[in-house]
Amino acid sequence: MGTSPGRLVLLGHPVSHSLSPVFQNAALRAAKIPLIYEALDVEPGALRSVLRELKESKAAGNVTIPHKTAVHASCDKVTDIAARVGAVNTFWFEAGKLHCDNTDVGGFDTAVKALLGGEPAKARVVLLGSGGAAAAVLAAVERWSNAHVALVARNTEKARRLARRFRDVASVETSLENALREASLVVNATPVGQHDDDQPVDVAMIQPTTAVFDLVYRRGGTRWVKAARKRGCPAADGLPMLLEQGALSFQRWFGIEPNREAMRQSLL
Ligand code: NAP
Repeated sequence: MGTSPGRLVLLGHPVSHSLSPVFQNAALRAAKIPLIYEALDVEPGALRSVLRELKESKAAGNVTIPHKTAVHASCDKVTDIAARVGAVNTFWFEAGKLHCDNTDVGGFDTAVKALLGGEPAKARVVLLGSGGAAAAVLAAVERWSNAHVALVARNTEKARRLARRFRDVASVETSLENALREASLVVNATPVGQHDDDQPVDVAMIQPTTAVFDLVYRRGGTRWVKAARKRGCPAADGLPMLLEQGALSFQRWFGIEPNREAMRQSLL
């Protein structure tokens, strides 16, 4: 790919807390690309008209909550992996057509393998949440060999619908305690802990040999990850995933590898 976009944006609502402009602008500076990555606060009702304007300016960018599914529905062309997830986080225009991808899948895959030291054999994953990020995690884990995912969510019906879409790898578990007993990896794909110190699961319920991956990120780390590490669990928060999904998006837009170290340094 590599489409020389005329403008680079993040579509979200609200977007004020997003770290993406910080590391994407660091990547642009390092690559000497004269663009500024802007965060656009877009109300859901305004999304269609904003996409029309972005098409005119040959823009590219990222999509975050709450637009990932709506932009997916507006795409002219989606990658296979984004279609599998049913949500997109990356877009660009080619010959006036809206192209979309989901780099959360690759971002999660790379970050979790860095935590685990490679692809886990026979992973037993407990996945908390049943939204777009949970679907991206499932799309990554279904490519691992002999993995199983126990989905635990507050909306059991929604979790069942998601598990049906990933029936070869996932099932719904209503007892968190049972699910955790067998787990080799626990993944938080809910926003719990994003704006406060709430924790998605009491770490006392997690075996110290179980790895913990929190999609939530906060500068300085999430409370849940700190508590898990204290218990002895290998643990990482969502920052490495965020950086990697952003790096993969950058590659889609410009056709070159970004300077990942410059991106990482910008968040210190
Ligand atoms: P989403 O589509 O809104 O889904 C959120 C899920 O969490 C839903 O299943 C929701 O349940 C559940 N949930 C919300 N509040 C909860 C609570 N208090 N207790 C239990 N469950 C709760 O959001 P998403 O796009 O999947 O994103 C989820 C989180 O992942 C966000 O914090 C997002 O920032 C993070 N994320 C991080 C990265 C990264 O690169 N690190 C990438 C993507 C997403 P209901 O359906 O019942 O509302």
